[in-house]
Amino acid sequence: MGPLSKIGILGCAGRMGRMLLQEVLSRAEAQLAGGVEAADNPLIGHDIASLIGAAPLGLLVGDDADALFETADAVIDFTHPGALPRHIDLALRHRTALVVGTTGLDRAAEALISAATDKVAIIRAANMSVGVTLITRLVEQLAAKLAADSFDIEIVEMHHRHKIDAPSGTALALAQAAAQGREVALDRVWRKSRDGQVGARPIGEIGLSAIRGGDVVGDHTVIFAADGERIEISHRASSRQIFARGAVTAALWVAGRPAGLYGMNEVLGLTSRQL
Ligand code: NAD
Repeated sequence: MGPLSKIGILGCAGRMGRMLLQEVLSRAEAQLAGGVEAADNPLIGHDIASLIGAAPLGLLVGDDADALFETADAVIDFTHPGALPRHIDLALRHRTALVVGTTGLDRAAEALISAATDKVAIIRAANMSVGVTLITRLVEQLAAKLAADSFDIEIVEMHHRHKIDAPSGTALALAQAAAQGREVALDRVWRKSRDGQVGARPIGEIGLSAIRGGDVVGDHTVIFAADGERIEISHRASSRQIFARGAVTAALWVAGRPAGLYGMNEVLGLTSRQL
């Protein structure tokens, strides 16, 4: 076995952060470089293992992202869109590979990621699960085959009540895949909500609906609806572990890679001949 890759976790006390901790500690090829939280988080200074109810590791929840980027071979960010610009800056300064799982990014943050990938390796995916990576490709292929004047595309997603962005990054990525399949620009055809006298559905529209409630980890359905028939492709996440597993696999894959923007297709080794 080669040397262990040192993985750092930003937002380590969050819902995803705790799953990531568990996942890094369970991988023989990974070593935990440390975990950092937002400066006002009361858990800073506590042993990091207490976040997952494990025996003390002698490693404390930190607030120094700079030091984490310096030590780690790859850093995983599941935090908040507002935190991302600084994290990209640190990735550039230390030339440390970055895995971005955070969703709800605005155009400025997207542009920062693109610009940074000239100098550092970044993996970005709104959904790091194997299942969603696969159905995203399937949606693109179906959208390319099913004519827009016969098949209407609607995407419905449901998440837990704490989620702060809508529609979900995954729903947007599925919409993007559908638009790509149809060779249209998504922002010309999407409809993010309907209310009141909206009129008949225009041909070619891609609709997105978001539902929030309870503890739902993440459900997505892409509907292709025609006269007389309907295809529905659904993915239901029942555990955040699927995202953590994908993110840690991505971090191990990207550590030491040349600069560039990568996605889960590359991490999972999916070629264009496969789904
Ligand atoms: P959460 O609110 O439970 O956790 C976020 C954590 O980040 C919090 O503990 C918060 O204190 C911390 N944080 C905020 N700013 C920080 C900073 N500057 N430095 C360090 N830590 C900081 O949220 P969550 O449910 O874990 O989700 C986090 C993000 O991940 C969201 O954007 C969510 O949509 C996304 N997500 C992505 C995937 C995927 O597969 N890509 C899967 C699930 C969730």
